Amino acid sequence: MNNMNSNSEEKNQGNSRSLNFLESIIEEDIKNGKNKSRVHTRFPPEPNGYLHIGHAKSICLNFGLGEKYNGKTNLRFDDTNPTKEEDEYVHSIIEDVKWLGFDWEDRQYYASDYFGQLYEWAVKLIRKGKAYVEEQSAETISEQRGVPTRPGTESPYRNRPIEENLGLFERMRKGEFPDGSKVLRAKIDMASPNMHMRDPVMYRILHATHHRTGDDWCIYPMYDFAHGQSDYLEGITHSICTLEFEIHRPLYDWFLDNIIETEYRPRQIEFARLNLTYTVMSKRKLLELVKGNYVNGWDDPRMPTISGLRRRGYTPESIRNFADRIGVAKRDNTIDVGVLEFSVREHLNKIAPRVFAVLNPLKLIITNYPEGQVEELDIELNPEDETMGSRKVPFSREIYIERDDFMEDPPRKFFRLGPGREVRLKGAYFVKCENYKKDEAGNITEVYCTYDPETKSGSGSTRKVKGTLHWVSVDHAIDAEVRLYDRLFKTENPDTVDGEVDFKDNMNPDSLKTITGKIEPGIKGAKALDKFQFQRLGYFCVDPDTTEDKLVFNRTVPLRDSWAKKNK
Ligand code: ATP
Ligand code: MG
Repeated sequence: MNNMNSNSEEKNQGNSRSLNFLESIIEEDIKNGKNKSRVHTRFPPEPNGYLHIGHAKSICLNFGLGEKYNGKTNLRFDDTNPTKEEDEYVHSIIEDVKWLGFDWEDRQYYASDYFGQLYEWAVKLIRKGKAYVEEQSAETISEQRGVPTRPGTESPYRNRPIEENLGLFERMRKGEFPDGSKVLRAKIDMASPNMHMRDPVMYRILHATHHRTGDDWCIYPMYDFAHGQSDYLEGITHSICTLEFEIHRPLYDWFLDNIIETEYRPRQIEFARLNLTYTVMSKRKLLELVKGNYVNGWDDPRMPTISGLRRRGYTPESIRNFADRIGVAKRDNTIDVGVLEFSVREHLNKIAPRVFAVLNPLKLIITNYPEGQVEELDIELNPEDETMGSRKVPFSREIYIERDDFMEDPPRKFFRLGPGREVRLKGAYFVKCENYKKDEAGNITEVYCTYDPETKSGSGSTRKVKGTLHWVSVDHAIDAEVRLYDRLFKTENPDTVDGEVDFKDNMNPDSLKTITGKIEPGIKGAKALDKFQFQRLGYFCVDPDTTEDKLVFNRTVPLRDSWAKKNK
């Protein structure tokens, strides 16, 4: 125990921020010896879709607390609804949590593991006169529940004898009744101001095949009757969930108090879910985008899913840093998606090798450079990390520059190329524009320059020039398909605009633009998910669609937050 406390103090010193409210609660519980001062958390996804960045926040929180307090964290699939749950989702969830860098060792559980025990507990409640079989329709039950300001109406089945309830529940389990014909309800308080306490449903009949238990069951427990008990069975001490469950907490406690005789209790604590601007964050809506082919699957790089972000080129470190940076809140709020992108840039800046890529090419010919000559220039891979060393980049008489980097009639403050102006070609020489050519439509087709051999990079030349351009040798360039992503939604709050608007109406029609770029030849052999900085352009990552013959890149993020500026 001592060991644990000193360890957590050390970590606190290293990381100067003050405790968040969850940490304060946990430290208080440890101090008071609650649950023998153990800390055991869980991440409880329902396998009905792929995980998104909001789940990542919850994963970092739960596993982070487990690590910080030398405790444990379980992965538990909350699989109580067979009609929506699938093995595909289970596999993707496992992959995503692992990829984020967390380990649940052998503690991978399923609420469905507990169906037998939950059934017995339901019988126990019936025996105690605290649960009954209801035969009215869902609409009637809902009507009788009433409104929070007035007591509801008690069901005519509420006081049926215990033996009758036991018999009917048993027959429900055996499959004698059709779906929806009966439910098991807890007998709590039809006058409670908390609607969740007005005889909530515990079990419903569903003749559906479950992804793990097959056809063993045709009655399934509701979330509220499964979650707290699952926490209990796993020895969870702090059951951290999002704010919408705050109102369920009395029910969470009621079930445990009426079932469990021992002193140990898991404790439910709520925090505010993560919302991001320009993002929808609900599995139901994300599923709608996938099913309706609005995106190319769950791992489309525009999706806020963990698999989408991974394919887009985000790193686990950047997501974990983001989760840490935004902290935990007690009140709902929305985080600027720019904060997430900042965390991604911050990490990629350290780890991504630099390469030259020209995405909108314009040919530049150096008229005084010998034809047929090729110089292999040594250019650093990452100014942030000298240990990465350098790469060889071929330089020759004809190169591509970015079309935007040339203006026929530039303003004075344009420090790039224009008639009579001089710039540095990064890692090579200074070139001065002598002339240029246009086609009939007036588009610039070629730019003619002379170079100054005295200005070779690294030669010690003291001559100065304001602009530096990236470039790629025409003969050596490799073509790549480059997918330029923009926000999937064009409104900051796509979920709630006017309430009635379909969130899909807020989609950005220009969220994907595909172009062909010219990249320096060293890029050859790059593997799926390898990350690079295309100098002056942004961070890019190799898409798994890449084959031997064709390189495909995704733009992860531009170098700067151009979106924020555009919308100011
Ligand atoms: P969604 O509302 O997106 O469909 P969910 O809450 O139904 O998600 P679950 O699989 O039940 O998804 O969630 C697993 C865990 O992740 C829960 O503890 C839940 O509270 C948490 N979680 C879900 N969304 C967020 C979010 N946006 N921010 C933080 N935690 C979240
Ligand atoms: Mg849920």
